[in-house]
Amino acid sequence: MTEDNYDVVVIGAGPAGTAAALRAAELGARVAVLEADKTGGTCVNSGCVPTRVLAKTARLMRDVRTADAYGITVGEHHLDWPSTVSRVRQTVDAVRSIKDEARRFEAAGIDLVLEGRARFTDASTLVLDSGRRVRGNSVIICVGGHSRRLPVPGAELATVPEHVLDLAALPARVAIIGAGNTGAQLVTVFSAFGSQVTLLDVAPRILMASDASIGDAVAQAFAEQGVAVLTGIDGVDGLAQTADGIELGWRAAGSATTGTFDAVIMATGWPADIDDLGLDAAGITPERSAIPVDQYFRTAIPHIFAVGDANGRDMLVQAAVFEGEVAAENAVLDANRRTPHHLLPAGGFTDPDYAGVGLTQTEAKQRDELCIVATVAYTQLDRAVIDDRRRGFLTLIADRRRELILGAHAVGENAIEVVQSVTTAMAAGIDVATLAGVKFAYPTYSAVIGMAARALLAEPSQELPV
Ligand SMILES: Cc1cc2nc3c(=O)[nH]c(=O)nc-3n(C[C@H](O)[C@H](O)[C@H](O)COP(=O)(O)OP(=O)(O)OC[C@H]3O[C@@H](n4cnc5c(N)ncnc54)[C@H](O)[C@@H]3O)c2cc1C
Repeated sequence: MTEDNYDVVVIGAGPAGTAAALRAAELGARVAVLEADKTGGTCVNSGCVPTRVLAKTARLMRDVRTADAYGITVGEHHLDWPSTVSRVRQTVDAVRSIKDEARRFEAAGIDLVLEGRARFTDASTLVLDSGRRVRGNSVIICVGGHSRRLPVPGAELATVPEHVLDLAALPARVAIIGAGNTGAQLVTVFSAFGSQVTLLDVAPRILMASDASIGDAVAQAFAEQGVAVLTGIDGVDGLAQTADGIELGWRAAGSATTGTFDAVIMATGWPADIDDLGLDAAGITPERSAIPVDQYFRTAIPHIFAVGDANGRDMLVQAAVFEGEVAAENAVLDANRRTPHHLLPAGGFTDPDYAGVGLTQTEAKQRDELCIVATVAYTQLDRAVIDDRRRGFLTLIADRRRELILGAHAVGENAIEVVQSVTTAMAAGIDVATLAGVKFAYPTYSAVIGMAARALLAEPSQELPV
């Protein structure tokens, strides 16, 4: 079997691998991308894009249900699950055809190799399922991850988030285990579709990675929508098939409880896809189900990089793309570059939406207890009143001198777009007075940013150290 030699070999054609390969080729490297399945990765095929279409469908259901408030009488309506699934698949195809990584790779002179899974045989050589061997002076690992099932009896009866479209029918009763970003978004989807949803997590609150105010507000909204939010449980015992459905057992406050559901979804972690990657042959030892890297995305083997979900850091597309580009620069130029800044806006398309960027209130106060915090409720925002979307708020956190915005956290309609705009201001390093002077078009959700910035200015002065 022949062995092909490249300057850079990229494993995986998701957002991280695509960005890495295109940047490496742009810098003049001879590049191969090894992809085991479809280009686009989890993001396009089974993650962000399908989930966002489901979130859009959920939003339409909500709008139909509440249309009467605006004088629109809507007759009988129900969700047709097969049609929804078909719409999701059409949208994935549409996004895939726009992205068309194969064409972009070809135009950039990159070899896309679709011959099965790649596995290291030594630190520079990979063998594919087809038997083909590929050698790289540098290797960028962009293999992404997969859902982790809890190690409990009957776990195979559960569905995982990237496979919800495979559910044969819309479940009337669904349990979602794991109240992180993905679990929370699925709560909104199934709740809006009319399923009775139970959300379970051992964590003391939902959305633990977000500012506490966000988790509390979204949990309250879920409860008002009829979702059973069970946080702080002791653990899940197992699943068993019964004539009536899947029986899920868990312990809470020391007592064993069971519930019967038509579907159980485990959104309980996302280990890197490294089990059959031959990392030991490359001299790399995984840690906590991911590939450890330094700030330049180098593994313990200097010419091997790991980016995107594979390194287990930020697990978001917006991180994967930047990491891929920076790793490509470091690989091709033998440089030590980092991502341009630390800001990483993120959120979820729940009902209501939520988002955050920068430090949480707890983190900011730990760093500087005189930091300044201001919150503006959506009830004060004309656009939210006009749209009857009054649930929500934006919290801005600034340093004691009001020179920097340290964090922004929002719940409510368009929260992600609102936080994105604050991120732009933070990346530009503008101070609170400048942000407060920005003109916001009327009536918009982003106007809440100007209101919150002015509220920060109005907060009493903090005592500065002499
Ligand atoms: C349900 C769900 C919803 C999500 N929603 C969002 C969202 O709204 N916003 C957001 O930012 N993020 C979201 N994410 C996370 C996002 O999908 C990931 O962070 C992103 O896809 C990571 O990109 P990546 O390139 O590192 O990995 P992936 O996109 O997973 O791509 C990895 C690629 O590597 C290939 N591969 C794996 N092993 C091998 C091998 N041995 N040989 C060859 N090829 C291999 C795979 O086939 C795959 O194509 C969501 C994830 C899920 C599951």
